Amino acid sequence: MTAARIPDALTVHQLLGRIVYFHVLLIAPELPGTGMTSAPGPVCCNHRFPRPLSLATALKGSAWGALAEVATELPDSHRPCPHASETCCATCRIASAASALGRGWAATEHRAYHQSDPDARLVDGCGRAAADRMGRVFAAQHGTSCTVLDRLAAEPPATASLPGVDELPLTGELLALWADPAATTQAPVASWLNHCTGLGDVRRVLELRRTPS
Ligand SMILES: [Zn+2]
Ligand SMILES: [Zn+2]
Repeated sequence: MTAARIPDALTVHQLLGRIVYFHVLLIAPELPGTGMTSAPGPVCCNHRFPRPLSLATALKGSAWGALAEVATELPDSHRPCPHASETCCATCRIASAASALGRGWAATEHRAYHQSDPDARLVDGCGRAAADRMGRVFAAQHGTSCTVLDRLAAEPPATASLPGVDELPLTGELLALWADPAATTQAPVASWLNHCTGLGDVRRVLELRRTPS
């Protein structure tokens, strides 16, 4: 897997802001809100092979910190390092947060549009694709590397298993935008999603589009 092209900081900031905006407005109201906490995930690479330089501080005061905060609102999907601390590998933290985002958004969207639980492969594929894409952008921007990205790159989810924007608009757009944010020339991103105030709105647009005229 080649390194991601480094997008400019403003584009990354804008795309992260878009995640927080959609999460608060569209996804959070659909979450059960049971006050549960995440089960621990695999140990991050810094806690397995300690390195002198920890990048966890790279998230402090950075727009990327918002991604970690959104992930904590998705405890069903989030599997952070069991030794979560300032010494964690920042790229592992971003990848696990992005995985929670991909999994949580895909599951929430699917349930909202189909009133049924999604296929595990769909959720897993969205989680791994989001982790890989956002993790590579973060690593490229910070000039770092991480074993978790190597593992993700070795086993990419089948593209056919990933939802398109006509299927799960929020998740599909997320994966498309982060595949190569350097290619995002429009700021802000123009999309009909910008006019939705709930997943019910999104579902109605999808239904209208499917109705043959
Ligand atoms: Zn750790
Ligand atoms: Zn790592």
